[in-house]
Amino acid sequence: MALIVQKYGGSSVSDAASIERVADRIVATRRAGNDVCVVVSAMGDTTDDLIDLAQQITAAPPQREMDILLTAGERISMSLLAMAIHERGVTARSFTGQQAGVITDDVYGKARIIDVSPSRITETLEQGAVAIVAGFQGVNQAANDVTTLGRGGSDTTAVALAAALGADVCEIYTDVDGVFTADPRIVPAARKLDTIGYDEMLEMAACGAKVLMLRCVEYARRFGVPVHVRSSYSTLTGTLVTKENPMEQPIIAGVAHDRTEAKVTLVDVPDVPGKAARIFEVVAAAGVNIDMIVQNVSVVGTGKTDVSFTLPAADGDAATKALEAAREEIGYDEVRYDDTIGKLSLIGAGMKSHPGVSARLFKALSDAGINIEMISTSEIRISVVTSVDLLDQAVRAVHTAFDLDSDQDQAVVYGGTGR
Ligand code: ASP
Ligand code: MG
Repeated sequence: MALIVQKYGGSSVSDAASIERVADRIVATRRAGNDVCVVVSAMGDTTDDLIDLAQQITAAPPQREMDILLTAGERISMSLLAMAIHERGVTARSFTGQQAGVITDDVYGKARIIDVSPSRITETLEQGAVAIVAGFQGVNQAANDVTTLGRGGSDTTAVALAAALGADVCEIYTDVDGVFTADPRIVPAARKLDTIGYDEMLEMAACGAKVLMLRCVEYARRFGVPVHVRSSYSTLTGTLVTKENPMEQPIIAGVAHDRTEAKVTLVDVPDVPGKAARIFEVVAAAGVNIDMIVQNVSVVGTGKTDVSFTLPAADGDAATKALEAAREEIGYDEVRYDDTIGKLSLIGAGMKSHPGVSARLFKALSDAGINIEMISTSEIRISVVTSVDLLDQAVRAVHTAFDLDSDQDQAVVYGGTGR
């Protein structure tokens, strides 16, 4: 008998039949004697469809209205799921994020949870009923307005509730069997991990692995919530995300990839103190977060150098416009912009104490004829930028070079559009 928080993603509740399947699973967990709190995402691609709809009305919807609109998706799935559970003879009550006590800051579209007071959920569980909570939403403290937590935010709702309720485990149900050594949609030989440490999972999520939202992992690590990522289509044990066990750290946990970034290069920047500071002040003032930075050695005689950095492609316009406006002041020659880049990241807590990991990575890429445009590292990660056309090939080559390929059956992707 345990208190279990279960989160079901959009592809797990994409139609009535899927909702019934999920309801069966929840009812079985409840009948086994557990207290069950469920967090649910919007059905299928509902959130994207709502965004498309708003775009047909206006190119610049007020953010407050956008957030209210998007929370409608989760309200549909939560109430239908509660009905399906009722139909099976178990009491269930659905709650919006606000009713569930999810309090956020007031940054519409990507609000942060600042507190969770789930008294109505606790009450519901004490009465032996199943509580269903709409994911991805809360209410801001200042104005009492509805907010959303950013795309994929239901994972964060689930972990935050698990922490506030003191749940024994937070189960994240998705359309693959767990966390894999690479995206099984790209690497069919990817292996499911039995466990992965919070730090490694954080790097994976930050580097583009979509299986868990970054913020949800941050939250889980901060509150020590054990997260079990598993499939809603099978009963297989998935991947446990938890504190790393230093005795059993594999050298490499996996290979993540990201094709959402772009590269900006400033050509012929005067190589004198203060220029880098100025460049990145300008970029920061435009509200743009940057990722990798590379500065070349200055060309002898000219005293000029090139500075490149990567950023989310969605912010490319804002950053290049701001830099163009500051061209004279900074004194560079030209801004180049390239959104045809891809980023590959190799992640593993064990690489801290193993020499030769970078060399092996670069060798694998060169054997595959893939050029590296930029490199950055952390203690447990090495990232490289390549041309986006070669990214999938690069991921497969590196996966093989680090002996991560499974000799078992191919990884199963049960559903979803990967959208
Ligand atoms: N429905 C939201 C989205 O599609 C939240 C979620 O799925 O976690 O981003
Ligand atoms: Mg979704």
